[in-house]
Formats: sequence, C-alpha cells, structure tokens
Amino acid sequence: TSYGFTEVEQGGKQGLVDEVFHGVARRYDIMNDAMSGGMHRLWKDAMVTALNPPKRPDYAVLDVAGGTGDIAFRIVESSGRQAHATVLDINGSMLQVGRERAEKRRLDGCVDFVEANAEDLPFENGRFDAYTIAFGIRNVPDIPRALSEAYRVLKRGGRFLCLEFSEVDAPMLDRLYDAWSFNAIPRLGRMITGDSEPYQYLVESIRKFPNQKDFATTIEQAGFSRVKWTNYTGGIAALHSGWKL
Ligand code: SAM
Repeated sequence: TSYGFTEVEQGGKQGLVDEVFHGVARRYDIMNDAMSGGMHRLWKDAMVTALNPPKRPDYAVLDVAGGTGDIAFRIVESSGRQAHATVLDINGSMLQVGRERAEKRRLDGCVDFVEANAEDLPFENGRFDAYTIAFGIRNVPDIPRALSEAYRVLKRGGRFLCLEFSEVDAPMLDRLYDAWSFNAIPRLGRMITGDSEPYQYLVESIRKFPNQKDFATTIEQAGFSRVKWTNYTGGIAALHSGWKL
C-alpha cells in the first residue's frame, strides 16, 4: 500500500484502521461533525429510535465498534438511564475518550467499556438483548465472522442493528456526494489532523462496501431473520435490522 505506515503494512487492513483511529481519537467527534455536516447525529438518533430500548434495568445492549460512545450514550439516555450498554472497540484510544465522556455525563454506572475484536467477542452465548454497530462493520476485515459473532452473543428474540454508509440512490445527490467525499473529506482530514491519506482510505472503504441488498443477504447468511433496511439521506447511510429468532 502507499499509506506510508510500516506497521500498517504488516497489520493489513486492520492495522491501517487501528492507526487511523489511534491518531484521531481526541478529534474524532469534531471530525464526525465536520465530515457529515452534523448529519451523523440525526442518523444515530434514528438508529436509537428504531431500537426503542425498553426502560428496564435488565436490558443489555452490546455496541460494537462503539468508539467514543455515541450510540451507547443515546441508548442509555433513551431508556431513561435504565438499560445497560457495553461499548466494545478494538482501539484503546477511542475507548479512553469514551470513558472520559461517560464520566462527564455521569453515565459511567450504565455503560462499560471492553477492548476486543468484533470478530472474536469475549462473551458467552445469548448474553445480550441487542447488538448495535454504527460505522464500524466496514472496517472489520472478516465481516461474515463478525456477523456470526453478533448472532452468537444475542438472546433468542434479540435485535441486530447496523448503521453504515451505503449506496446513494439519487443521481444528483450521488454526484454531490462524490465531490464531497473524494475532495472535501481528505482535505478536511488534513486540516484537522494534519494527514489526508487515512481519510482517502476511509472514503475508498465506503465505495467498496456492498450495497443495501447485498449486505442484507450477508446478514441473512449469518442466521438473522426478517432482515430489512432503511435508507437515510438518499442512501448515504442505511440502517440494517435483523432478529435472532
Ligand atoms: N460507532 C462509533 C460512532 O458511530 O461514532 C465509532 C465509529 S468509528 C468510524 C469506527 C470504529 O470501529 C473505531 O473506533 C475503530 O477502532 C473500530 N474498529 C475497527 N475495527 C474493529 C474491529 N475489528 N473490532 C472492533 N472495533 C473495530
């Protein structure tokens, strides 16, 4: 690869992803707002509305690739601080920022943090009521393996929700989006973090990710039932939903 990170070349895709998120952890939340024009907040709110977590203290959610805690905090708040969320991420720097944010919001009693790989979850079978993953599955090298781990740790009747960049289905928006992602995002990345190459990689990884229908098929192949999706902002992002029945 031409990314210029030696360890990254040895670590392959996961190594590059780790390098990117170690580097940006402290600026990650600002980057998200800058790159999505604040839209990621609306998509995340919509995801949690779709989950509709019950106000029950025994309701347990696993938020994989949970980073700095955006999804987990929303879930806990929307359950009236009743539900429990576990934020799992492969990257200790992202989790550290998440821990500090949780303390500031006084959510540390309802949220805990686990450093682990989505492909190899350190939990027993049937432990969680819901599994969420937002803008994370695209970065995982072995997606079918992560999905079968999701299936394994869910209870029967458990819910799977995945928010990810997807295929834009409106022709005008498509062109605008291309211009934005191929030009503005790497430039913004350089302005805020001093390096544009990791952002170029992230934009390319969005292009390579399967479209809504193909990804739904992959989710079904992991065992999930009633798989469907909802597009947000013309398909810039999509929420896939499934059940372990
Ligand atoms: N879910 C958060 C959000 O929506 O703001 C963070 C998303 S961030 C774009 C992607 C996250 O995926 C990073 O924190 C990264 O460390 C994590 N990640 C990448 N590969 C992973 C893996 N194999 N297992 C678990 N987490 C991973």
